[in-house]
Amino acid sequence: RAKEEGRKRYELFDETLAKNVIDVLTMEGELRQALARDEFEPYLQPFCRLEDGAVVGYEALLRWNHPKLGVLGPADFLKVAHDSGHIESIDWRLFERGCERFLQLADQNTFLTFNVSALHLRHRDFDARLVHLLERTGLPPWRLIVEVTEGSLLDNPEQVRTMLERLRAIGVGAALDDFGTGYSSLSYLHSLPLRMLKIDRAFVHALGADEHTTATTVVAAILALARALDIQVIAEGIETPTQREALLGMGCELGQGYLLGHPAPIGRWLGREGRAD
Ligand code: C2E
Ligand code: MG
Ligand code: MG
Ligand code: MG
Repeated sequence: RAKEEGRKRYELFDETLAKNVIDVLTMEGELRQALARDEFEPYLQPFCRLEDGAVVGYEALLRWNHPKLGVLGPADFLKVAHDSGHIESIDWRLFERGCERFLQLADQNTFLTFNVSALHLRHRDFDARLVHLLERTGLPPWRLIVEVTEGSLLDNPEQVRTMLERLRAIGVGAALDDFGTGYSSLSYLHSLPLRMLKIDRAFVHALGADEHTTATTVVAAILALARALDIQVIAEGIETPTQREALLGMGCELGQGYLLGHPAPIGRWLGREGRAD
């Protein structure tokens, strides 16, 4: 019996494995095609002032308009795009598209953030390529911020710090994404030229839940730290008025999340700026 069940489980596992291998290969080919067909698009999600909901900036989030499967998010293909090396071309296409279209928005005081993987930070000409892009599109450097995750600091913190310094030299800002989930040491944080810290949504989520006392303590500590280092804080993943109130009460001024606005194609933000979703 046990043997039979063991075999069943084995077969099942084997099937899934085979299917995943095919999926990965198919997807790699499709990603290449998608680049050629220009199927990638930045969706924008607003950053808002918690007090009155005014939009202060937007995050560009990668979406794939798949011809058969519809709109896909990073969770569906980012790993394959990363492992196959396609992510760099995809990202650059997205940066380009994002900067160009971002300038169509009427409010010229907002900033735009992009998520960059550690791969980019390893390229010594990343800053030069950004300068070129900014010159070509006409986007002022101060309006651009790159988001790096705490995780990307693990492999080679010195390399990341050097690149962020070079970005600062050209006027481009840096944000530390998903803060609180990685393992970056606090002593190291002050040596990074950061404009912004994004509190991971896990803590924001916990604010309205049972474990809110711990979350409150952690968020308060992050806010105090950021204030001491003169870094702006943005709370991610705000979904309820309770979370928004809790953050406001603690002195957190900026936030992002479904309560304030969902990611949407740039066209949907044209002509309706300052209004939350
Ligand atoms: P992230 O940078 O931390 O982005 C936030 C993610 O949380 C986004 O998912 C966003 O849609 C989602 N989100 C926003 N507000 C809420 C909320 O209130 N509740 C919940 N539950 N989720 C919320 P998305 O777009 O699926 O992106 C996932 C991750 O993929 C991003 O995490 C980022 O690390 C990565 N990513 C996104 N765009 C790009 C890109 O252009 N290039 C690269 N290399 N990575 C990207
Ligand atoms: Mg991000
Ligand atoms: Mg984030
Ligand atoms: Mg996050």
